[in-house]
Amino acid sequence: MPKDFLKDAKDEYDVVVIGSGLAGLTSANMLARNGHSILLLEQHYKLGGMATWFKRPGGHIFDISLHGFPYGMVKSCRRYWTQEIADSIVQLENIRFDNPMFSLTTNFNRVDFTKLLIEKFNLTPETVEGFFDKSRKMDFQDDQQMTTRQLFDEFFPGREDVIRLLMEPITYANGSTLEDPAISYGIVFSNFMSKGVFTFRGGTDRLIHLMQAELEKNKVDIRIRCDVEKIHCEGGRVSAVEVGGRKIKTQAVVSNANLKQTIFQLVGEEYFDRQFVEDAQAVRLNNSSTQVYMALKPDERIDETTGDLLFSSTAPVFQTDLLLSRDITSRTFSFYYPHTRPEGRQRCLIVSSTNANYDDWAHLPEDEYQVSKKDLVETTLDALDKYVPNIRDRIAHAEASTPRTFQHYTQHVAGASFGTKFEGLKVSFDVPKQIEGLYHAGSVGIIMSGWLGAMNYGRMVAGDVDNLLATGGSRTAASMV
Ligand SMILES: Cc1cc2nc3c(=O)[nH]c(=O)nc-3n(C[C@H](O)[C@H](O)[C@H](O)COP(=O)(O)OP(=O)(O)OC[C@H]3O[C@@H](n4cnc5c(N)ncnc54)[C@H](O)[C@@H]3O)c2cc1C
Repeated sequence: MPKDFLKDAKDEYDVVVIGSGLAGLTSANMLARNGHSILLLEQHYKLGGMATWFKRPGGHIFDISLHGFPYGMVKSCRRYWTQEIADSIVQLENIRFDNPMFSLTTNFNRVDFTKLLIEKFNLTPETVEGFFDKSRKMDFQDDQQMTTRQLFDEFFPGREDVIRLLMEPITYANGSTLEDPAISYGIVFSNFMSKGVFTFRGGTDRLIHLMQAELEKNKVDIRIRCDVEKIHCEGGRVSAVEVGGRKIKTQAVVSNANLKQTIFQLVGEEYFDRQFVEDAQAVRLNNSSTQVYMALKPDERIDETTGDLLFSSTAPVFQTDLLLSRDITSRTFSFYYPHTRPEGRQRCLIVSSTNANYDDWAHLPEDEYQVSKKDLVETTLDALDKYVPNIRDRIAHAEASTPRTFQHYTQHVAGASFGTKFEGLKVSFDVPKQIEGLYHAGSVGIIMSGWLGAMNYGRMVAGDVDNLLATGGSRTAASMV
């Protein structure tokens, strides 16, 4: 008989959280801390969503999305999780750029960038300060029509090299482009510039295990391998979720599943008004990614001056479509040294990431798909040889993932790595205005994606749910921004 992953689950909870990405986990933890009964349902066999890892024989542990996040994670982890989690966040010191326009190493904060922009790129201090100040002051009240390209043109007209330095890492960090609203650039860029780029010591596996322990301490009922099929609504309110052949009643649902999946598959468009459905249909998904995971032989080491994060490109200019093309010219290499997992086996690993279009991979016949994956590994090793000489002789393992992989493991429509484009933000905020007790919390609108964005969005939505349960009020995340 198949295992019953819902064995002994109750028939009713105050809140059901669908999905255990960082937003779902954070919502569940905050709500449980406030004394609500919480059921957390995850379709995968592991918690974490995109914040995940996998193991290969020989003691290799690969992180999927642990490449770098802003310092704000320290505060969020301390407030919404534990001091131990917050204390494990450490800075990445060497962020490298190498492309036909420039090669440099930085610690990626405002002081160092100001110095670089003045001394290496010959800009005036006034221009640089003006740009930083404008980016930092951006918020939701700002003009949302201005694009990132227009913001750059205001300060750095004709300076494609400067634009590349400022934009390339953010495109990698959240898939945003020069055509997206400047606000989505300004907020994320300023978050990084406050102190630099950070990572989690011990790896994603340690983080998620610590989070799981905290959820259990707070009595969240956690169920893996539970794929929610339906969110039921009655009389304009959420009433239950359907999972594993059971209907579990609840007053509120927080869906951490993809925004479009939540609206069109889990609920159904007939429960929303026409304008909302049209707006939701018009939401564009963000791009997906390909990755190549490489482990060095146990006794091989990489010199740490190679960098922690290396934005490498052979493209003569910065262009968004080049970054997404299957004819790859840009790769971001993350180097994991033995101290990444001080308690684990001493290994050097490298993950190469490139933004990618789902459609370029989705419909390949199986044999062509396998050949393309192999080609991706080979061309990546070729590119890496410049930074880690003789890499082919030194590796013990290499394999690739594609947009299909991300879709398979997280059910994100089109394997979107960072949720949706900017317009998804309003639609996500408006979900509870359509159906009482239904909330969406998860990568959306560029700003609310990434580890920090997703976690903070989870906390915001937990505040709304808490308010609903306590007072029957209708304050929403949007009103808190
Ligand atoms: C290759 C890659 C590299 C990245 N690098 C970085 C980085 O360096 N820094 C950074 O900050 N961010 C990075 N990100 C982005 C970051 O990982 C994500 O934005 C963030 O982890 C998403 O969290 P989330 O809460 O939106 O949920 P997700 O991680 O999207 O998780 C959603 C969860 O819902 C579950 N689910 C879906 N449908 C159902 C259902 N019907 N029933 C039950 N469960 C369901 C899924 O299985 C999944 O666990 C990267 C992403 C990718 C793909």
